Amino acid sequence: LVGRMRPFGTTIFTEMSALAARTGSVNLGQGFPDTDGPPEMLAAAAEALRSGANQYPPLAGIPALRAAIVAHEQRFWGLSRDPDTEVAVTAGATEAIAASILGLCEPGDEVVCFEPYYDSYAASIALAGAVRRPVTLRPGPDGGYGFDEGELRAAFGPRTRLVLLNTPHNPTGKVFTAEELALIARLCREHDVYAVTDEVYEHLVFTDSSTPHIPLAGLPGMLERTLRISSAGKTFSCTGWKVGWATGPAPLVSAVLRVKQFLTFVNAGPLQPAVAVALELPDSYFDGFRAGLQARRDRLVAGLSDAGFKVLPSAGTYFVTADITPLGGTDGVDFCRELPARCGVVAVPTQVFYDHQEQGHHLIRFAFCKREEVIDEAARRLRTLA
Ligand code: PMP
Ligand code: GLN
Repeated sequence: LVGRMRPFGTTIFTEMSALAARTGSVNLGQGFPDTDGPPEMLAAAAEALRSGANQYPPLAGIPALRAAIVAHEQRFWGLSRDPDTEVAVTAGATEAIAASILGLCEPGDEVVCFEPYYDSYAASIALAGAVRRPVTLRPGPDGGYGFDEGELRAAFGPRTRLVLLNTPHNPTGKVFTAEELALIARLCREHDVYAVTDEVYEHLVFTDSSTPHIPLAGLPGMLERTLRISSAGKTFSCTGWKVGWATGPAPLVSAVLRVKQFLTFVNAGPLQPAVAVALELPDSYFDGFRAGLQARRDRLVAGLSDAGFKVLPSAGTYFVTADITPLGGTDGVDFCRELPARCGVVAVPTQVFYDHQEQGHHLIRFAFCKREEVIDEAARRLRTLA
């Protein structure tokens, strides 16, 4: 292998899903739901396929979807954007993240992020020739993940171009608090840098979370410097559709589109009208979606605790992390590679999402976006470990 991608092997999700298929294990590794999204959305996609929406959509996305994205941001988060100039529809959040970084960074620029981070962040930063400056999230005395203010301040410097923030956070299930976000916003303003926020789990903050979801873009001085990214995949249980978006001030959205036109140009023609329908569903859909995931989180957490894991609190997302130390584990990668043979379950080691891998060597991640019977079967198998 040559070039910038040399340090990047096969993603852990591909490795672990292949291991699950090969061994017939229950796959609680890769985060994808095992049931379909809202029927209104599926029907709208089928109708669009039949009625000729099968050619290139406009670069920024079809007008109906851009309008729905703006209306959704206004309804849930009180943000106001112009659908004509401040929205870019992308091939999933993944393309939005890549195009944001490629569009905003010069080689050598620094990107402040939090580790563990979603794996595409490191790859997109590397593709841009930029440098990541990770700040470590560590489990605190109450079990929840936090970071050191001094470490965050020290990560900012003259080469900082942007902060890449994911809240609610994969893999930890952390939801950043108002105080933490105020600090991040203050540092962005002081250093005059951009923010790119990955909010794909915006609708998955559970009712027992100590903090609601707060978009960084809504903080003072942030609307004009933030690209806010989300995706239909998580909220509407259609991870294979890869319909995402970025909203932000027109110059930043233009930077995203400048890159996108040479990555994919456009995507998902017949799925775009269907996602517009989904975004306009009543609040009851979003409440029911969250309640369903919260119940499944509780079910999995109970099963993991029974099996002997030390489970860390998860306030949101599809995921919960667990400490393998009580089960005699010391290295999450080894533990996850052996787990299928030991009990027929697949999880993901979170140490691969750190630059400072020693910080996460004893932690693994389980996905609970699965049917109850699947979670129960995983729990039954995991109990045989004890
Ligand atoms: N960001 C985070 C934090 C994720 O967990 C994921 C995985 N779904 C993505 C981005 C990618 O989203 P998409 O599938 O829409 O590209
Ligand atoms: N976002 C999903 C996860 O974190 C997987 C995405 C992928 O496989 N690239 O598990």
